[in-house]
Amino acid sequence: MTAHAPATVTPNAAPLGATTRREPRMLTGDRPTGRLHLGHYVGSLANRVRLQATYESFFIIADLHMLTTKNSRADIAAVSQNARDMVLDSLAAGLEPGRSVFFLQSAVPEISEITLLLSSLVTVPRLERIPSLKEMAHDAGKEEMPFALLGYPVLQAADILSVRADAVPVGRDNAAHVEVAREIARRFNRLYGPVFPVPELVHADVPSLPGTDGVNKMSKSLGNAIYLSDSAAEVSRKVAGMYTDPNRTRADVPGTVEGNPVFAYHDAFSDRPGEVAELKDRYRAGRIGDVEVKARLAEAINRFLRPVRQRRARFAADPGMVDELIVSGTGRMRREARQTLAAMRGAMGLTTAFASFHRSTASSNGGPVSPRP
Ligand code: ATP
Ligand code: MG
Repeated sequence: MTAHAPATVTPNAAPLGATTRREPRMLTGDRPTGRLHLGHYVGSLANRVRLQATYESFFIIADLHMLTTKNSRADIAAVSQNARDMVLDSLAAGLEPGRSVFFLQSAVPEISEITLLLSSLVTVPRLERIPSLKEMAHDAGKEEMPFALLGYPVLQAADILSVRADAVPVGRDNAAHVEVAREIARRFNRLYGPVFPVPELVHADVPSLPGTDGVNKMSKSLGNAIYLSDSAAEVSRKVAGMYTDPNRTRADVPGTVEGNPVFAYHDAFSDRPGEVAELKDRYRAGRIGDVEVKARLAEAINRFLRPVRQRRARFAADPGMVDELIVSGTGRMRREARQTLAAMRGAMGLTTAFASFHRSTASSNGGPVSPRP
């Protein structure tokens, strides 16, 4: 469960960050496609909660990324509720509202312009070599690669670079995307001048949590997830229906612990290692039934979720608080992205290009252009 301890990243020199020394920043987030589950907790949330002590965290609700594979009216109509749920789940898991800037990606149009400016710094073959994009296209049932999906890492580079993030926590499926962001940042700095810190990858490479079906990784779209927002009764019901060792027909048949999702969850969520070791011994020896192992697991998960539920109830009792966080975070993010965009346009010479028209008009008329009467 414990991810590699990340090295603290010191903000590296860049004009925008160098003049005012600031706290190191990280960018994290998810696509707003549903509530968060135990797999998200293990794979990303736990790490985010740990890292927030070191980093000011920008948390993106990546709806433009969602559009690369899910762009129906219904998908888009669900964005606001999913965004609220994601933020509430993140706060319930332990993210501090004062340490995280939550923002809705599509409400920051500067990100789209930054994407366009960055897109000339990467080639199509470079993007085509990223295996996760092909997998995503395949999983979304696409026969051909959507243009936007090929650009997924460029849009992600724009998210990361628009806040001049120093660090990006990454799992296995995302490391290749952040590498693209690093290449783009270096290329921009070399070509136009140092605007961007080159973001560090902070590895959180933990194995995927299996789903309750014991076959696939836990995923909201596969109906095999236990959600952070599930009630104690729902957790017990889902655990009772979990797949275990398929070769075990009776409680007195010795069972296999390795690869058994019930024990994977015991290892991940129980705060009682002694109890888990004892359950494993009895299981291997055929001295305990699945019903008891599962009952103990439901108790362990519910103990783990108790403080999560308490925090969720506290935040949910303050109506409008989550909305307010998203609105103010998006405003803050827009200010950051505007600054970045201005620095990019300045470094690239685009600001001067446009200003030159004003100057030549003004000088040929002997003064500023005034509207006709
Ligand atoms: P979908 O079914 O729509 O693909 P999902 O439940 O798989 O949704 P994603 O939005 O694809 O969730 O996952 C976002 C991130 O959460 C992943 O990149 C990964 O870091 C983490 N994550 C998701 N599921 C798991 C899991 N079962 N185990 C570990 N980490 C996970
Ligand atoms: Mg997924």
